[in-house]
Amino acid sequence: MPGRLGGLGWRLLVRVLFFSSVITLLLTLLQLYFDYRRDVQAIDLRMSEIDSVYSRSLGDGLWRLDARQLRLQVEGILHLPDISYVELREATDRAVPAPFVVTAGSRQANAPMRREFRIIYADHGPEQLLGILVVEATFEPVYRRLVDTAAVIMVSQAIKTFVVSFFILLIVHRLITRHLTAIATSLRGYDLRGSHLPLRLARHSPRPADELDGLVGAFNQMYSGLQAAYGDLREREAKIRRLVDSNIIGILIIDLDGQIIEANDAFLRMVGYDREDLVAGRVRWTNSPPEWREADPARVEKVKTTGALQAFEKEYFRKDGSRMPALVGVARIEEAENQAVAFVVDLTERKRAEAELAHANRVATMGQLSASIAHEVNQPIAATLMNAGTALRWLARQPPNLEEATQAVEHIIKDGKRAADIVSRIRNFSKNAPAQNGDLEINEAILEIMTLARAAASQHGVFVKMQLSEGLPPIVGDRVQLQQVILNLIMNAIEALSEVGEGSRELLISSSEGESGGVLVAVADSGPGLPHTNPERMFDAFYTTKASGLGMGLSICRSIIQNHGGRLWAMPNQPHGAVFYVMLRTREKSLENLESSEA
Ligand code: ADP
Repeated sequence: MPGRLGGLGWRLLVRVLFFSSVITLLLTLLQLYFDYRRDVQAIDLRMSEIDSVYSRSLGDGLWRLDARQLRLQVEGILHLPDISYVELREATDRAVPAPFVVTAGSRQANAPMRREFRIIYADHGPEQLLGILVVEATFEPVYRRLVDTAAVIMVSQAIKTFVVSFFILLIVHRLITRHLTAIATSLRGYDLRGSHLPLRLARHSPRPADELDGLVGAFNQMYSGLQAAYGDLREREAKIRRLVDSNIIGILIIDLDGQIIEANDAFLRMVGYDREDLVAGRVRWTNSPPEWREADPARVEKVKTTGALQAFEKEYFRKDGSRMPALVGVARIEEAENQAVAFVVDLTERKRAEAELAHANRVATMGQLSASIAHEVNQPIAATLMNAGTALRWLARQPPNLEEATQAVEHIIKDGKRAADIVSRIRNFSKNAPAQNGDLEINEAILEIMTLARAAASQHGVFVKMQLSEGLPPIVGDRVQLQQVILNLIMNAIEALSEVGEGSRELLISSSEGESGGVLVAVADSGPGLPHTNPERMFDAFYTTKASGLGMGLSICRSIIQNHGGRLWAMPNQPHGAVFYVMLRTREKSLENLESSEA
C-alpha cells in the first residue's frame, strides 16, 4: 500500500489529478475551438469552389434546359462533404409560367450556412441571368467530429494522468513518505534518558545528500544537543538534590505570603513538624514569636525589590511551642514572582553554647569582683554591728534613750537592705536564666550594675564619673546580658587604669542618643590605651595581654551586642586611654534600619 489514505502521497495524487484534469479540459476546449474554426472555413471554401467549378456548366445546362445534365450536376454538388441541400432554379424574369427547378437533399429550417449563386450565361452576346443556385451546408458532421475528438482527448488524457499520478504516488512513497513514516515510528521510541543510536534511514544515501538526510542530520544534532543539556540538567539537579537531601541545613521553598511550599527533612526536624503537617499547610514561615514577626513585612518587601536577603537571625516556633533560634537567608526564585528559597540554620546549640559561655564569663567576673564585693557587703555588716552596739548602749541607759536607739536601728535596717540588695544583684547576675528581649531603660541598667562595679573601682583607686543623658528612648534587649557587657568594659578599664602607676585614674561612663537614632553607651578610661597594631584583635577570642587573663571578655561582649543588633568598637581616648562604644538599637530603629543595614 503506497501510503495511507489522506497521507501526503494521496493528497499529492488528488491535487495532481485535479490540476491535470483542469488543464486537460482547457486544452481540449482550445483544441475543439480550433477544429471547429478549421471545419467551418473548409465548408466556406467549398461553397466558393462550387461557384467557380459549377457555374459555367450549370449555365450551359440551363441555356439548353438539359434537365438530365442539370440533375446530375445538382446531385454531384450534394455529394460534396457537409452539403445538405442544393436547389437550382431558373431565373424568373423570363416569361415562363412554371420555372424549371431541380432540388437535391432536404432543406433545413435554420441552415447554419446558406449561399445563393447567380448563374450567368455570357457566351453569346451580353450577360444574361439564367438561374439561382442555392446551396445549404450542415454542421452536424462538424459537431460529430468535435465530439469524437473530445472523447479521444479526454480518455487518453485521463489514462495518462492516472498512470502518471500512480507513478508519482509510488515515487513519493519510495522517496519520501515511507521514510517519514519510519522516522516518525523510531522518533516515538526516543527519550532523553536512554542512549540511542543516531537515527538512520533504511536506504542508500544519495550523493549529494538530499533534504531527508538534512532532516535526519538535524534531528541527530538536536538530539545529541538535548541529551547533553539534559545530562547537565540532571547533574545540576543531582547536586541540588544532594544539597537538599544532605539535610545539613534546612531548605525551604516559600511563598512570600507565609506558606511553605516545600521543605527538606532537616527543616522539619528543626521545627518538630512532619511531612503531613507540611502538606496540610500547618507549617508556616510566619510562625514566629511576635517580636520577631515585626520585621517580616519589611523583609518581604526587600526580597521583592532586591531579590535576596542577607543572612539574618530570627526565631521560629517549634510544634511544641518552644522557640528555635535560626540563621536565615532568602533568595527570590526568578521564575516565580511570589516565591523564594530560604536557607535555615538551627542556632539552638550555638545559642546555648553562647549562653553558657556568657554565663561562665559572668561567674568569672563575679569571681574577679569577689574581693571588692566582699568589701562592699562587709561595710554594711560592720556598720550594722556598730549600730547594734550603739542601740544596745542607748537602751542600757537609765532611763533608756529610745530616740537614739530607734535611729540606730533605722541605720541597721538601711544597711541590711543595702547588703541584701547587693546579694540579690549578684544572684541575678550569676543566674543562668534564658534571655529576655524586653524594652529597657539603659540608664537604669547602668546604675544597677554600678552597685557591683563601684566597690572594685574604689578598691583600685579609680575615680568614676557618670554622664547619663535624660530621656533616652528605651532599647530592646536582655538586661543581664547588657549589664554584663558594661561590667566587662568597666572591669577592663579598671584593670587598664591599674597599670598606670601614679596619676589620675579616671573612668567616664556616659550614655547619649546615637547619630543614627540608637542609644550610645561609652566607657572611657585614661589608661595605657589600645594596642598599636591591629586593635581589632582585642575582640578575638583568647586574645589577652594579662597574665591571668582568658581573653574571652571582649569577644563575648561583641557577640552579645551583635545578637542585639548593635555594634561594639573601641577608639583611642584623648589625651590617652581607650574608649569603648556600644551602639544599641531602639525598637523603632531596629525595624527601620533593616533595609539599610542588612543590605
Ligand atoms: P581579658 O580581660 O581576659 O584579657 P578581654 O577580651 O576582656 O580579655 O580583653 C582582651 C584584651 O584587650 C586585654 O587583654 C587588653 O589587652 C585589651 N583591653 C581590653 N580593654 C582595654 C582597655 N580599656 N584599655 C586597654 N586595653 C584593653
